[in-house]
Amino acid sequence: MGAARQNVIVVGAGLVGLASALYLLRDGHSVAVIDREPPLDGSSYRHACSYGNACTVAPQSVVPVATPGIAWRVPGMLLNPLGPLAIRWSYLAALAPWLIGFVAASSKAEVERISTALSKLLSRADAAWRPLMQEAGAEDLIAAHGCLYLYKSDAARAASDRDAEFRTRHGVRLDRVTADEIRALEPNLPPFYRGGLWFRDAYVISSPERLARLLARAILARGGRFVKAEARDLSVSDGNVTIRVGEERLAADRLVIAAGAWSRTLAKQAGDEVQLDTERGYHVLFPEGRGLLTRPVCYTEHGFYMTPMADGLRAAGTVELGGLKAPLNKKRTEMIRNAVRTLMPAAGEGASEWMGFRPSMPDSLPVIGSSVRSGRVIHAFGHGHLGLTMAGITGQLVSDLVADRPPGIDLSPFHPRRR
Ligand SMILES: Cc1cc2nc3c(=O)[nH]c(=O)nc-3n(C[C@H](O)[C@H](O)[C@H](O)COP(=O)(O)OP(=O)(O)OC[C@H]3O[C@@H](n4cnc5c(N)ncnc54)[C@H](O)[C@@H]3O)c2cc1C
Repeated sequence: MGAARQNVIVVGAGLVGLASALYLLRDGHSVAVIDREPPLDGSSYRHACSYGNACTVAPQSVVPVATPGIAWRVPGMLLNPLGPLAIRWSYLAALAPWLIGFVAASSKAEVERISTALSKLLSRADAAWRPLMQEAGAEDLIAAHGCLYLYKSDAARAASDRDAEFRTRHGVRLDRVTADEIRALEPNLPPFYRGGLWFRDAYVISSPERLARLLARAILARGGRFVKAEARDLSVSDGNVTIRVGEERLAADRLVIAAGAWSRTLAKQAGDEVQLDTERGYHVLFPEGRGLLTRPVCYTEHGFYMTPMADGLRAAGTVELGGLKAPLNKKRTEMIRNAVRTLMPAAGEGASEWMGFRPSMPDSLPVIGSSVRSGRVIHAFGHGHLGLTMAGITGQLVSDLVADRPPGIDLSPFHPRRR
């Protein structure tokens, strides 16, 4: 293994797999990407979480989902299926081990540790994306106006001071903004706000789907190939790693598991039991909302962003802990529509809606690193709420691991068998 040209298989053509594949090709390796439905001409991409997110590269997101006091909120999550963070009763038993890990990750000490680790990745996220976007011709998709978190009451604004202090301590650049300043920034936004935070380093990718398709083209242009198939039965030996696609078994020197929320089974076949589950998220697209906002706006209590993107205004977010099998819950998209009716009535009634599967670990940290059993398998999944933001840096780290280069960052917090 090591620096020489290697045959690498990447499983998953979400943004994490695509960014990994392109970095590997830039290092001179031979790369095949396996996906059930890769983002090539004529194919849909709606199955991938990378399709429907809130389009925001969000270096401010150093705070994990589970924070102190979350344990007290679990009954409420069960009782209110329409809350911004909800648990489906039918999935509770299957979710239990993940939920225990989630609550365990919410202590003050853990939150501090997790935020420190997240900030290491987030501070390098943009620099790692840029060369890929440039190569893919995707720079036109960037709209860099920052991102606003808004507060409706003085109490919420006061609480945001603690939040701002925490983020600042973890390296986030932010400005506190008054109601007048918000009005100047977003004149079309009804003034429910009393104040807010402006994260100037955040930016929008106006179409994550287009980004994926451009990355796929760049991969093809460098001689990478796509295999449209389900990847199954991973097997590692001293000499190689193999995986079944249809009736065939493909072999490689290295294999990257970047299968998003579906990575758990493959990781287990590689020898690593990971507590990966999914935080299902939703979006509703408001084509009439085109041009109303300049930057993503989030009233944090509603749990979703309103993001100006290529197709209109996308209201995207919320968390539903409910596994990979249950269909889209119409009541949750209705909840988003109702909130937008109040928060941004000019956006109209909304058109298409979508549900996607965030690949989430209980501690909100991704899994990036070699399998414990063999360096031939590299994990790159579990990016939760931050896969669009962190795909570039993950791809770079994957290529460091394949080349046996020091990654320049301590990967132990992202270890597959971390505590
Ligand atoms: C509502 C919502 C809003 C969000 N907003 C943001 C945001 O603003 N900023 C941000 O940074 N992140 C955001 N995210 C999170 C982000 O979208 C995800 O973290 C990211 O898309 C995960 O990318 P991925 O490549 O790991 O997975 P995916 O995009 O899901 O890709 C995984 C791919 O693997 C394929 N696959 C899986 N198993 C197999 C198999 N066995 N064989 C073949 N193919 C397989 C699937 O078909 C899929 O194409 C949001 C998510 C949601 C749901």
